[in-house]
Amino acid sequence: MPFDCQSCGACCAVFRVSFYWSESTLHPDGAVPAHLVTAVSPHHVAMNGTLQTPVRCVALSGEVGRCVSCDIYPARSSTCRSVDAGDAQCLRARAAAGLPLPA
Ligand code: SF4
Ligand code: SF4
Repeated sequence: MPFDCQSCGACCAVFRVSFYWSESTLHPDGAVPAHLVTAVSPHHVAMNGTLQTPVRCVALSGEVGRCVSCDIYPARSSTCRSVDAGDAQCLRARAAAGLPLPA
């Protein structure tokens, strides 16, 4: 893995993190705590803190670029799970956060 996510967190502090509402506990099978999300369309919610500028997901603890963790890691959304260290979204997030990129 090219980067250590636990010393980064950029993707949790750059992007709007939205997903289908049923991934939240607004639905009986959902996992993302409903009090951490806001409706952004009839069918989608977003993590609180990612709808504002500067972005910072409400579930992110720690200091971006140093030491971070996700307070709801096992229950995070499919959108969160879709970013892999070193992929295009990751590199965009790290660039936006001013963190080093591969040489
Ligand atoms: S931007 Fe990349 S390295 Fe940083 S936390 Fe997200 S996936 Fe991990
Ligand atoms: S829920 Fe966790 S993984 Fe997803 S954006 Fe927030 S802090 Fe990052």
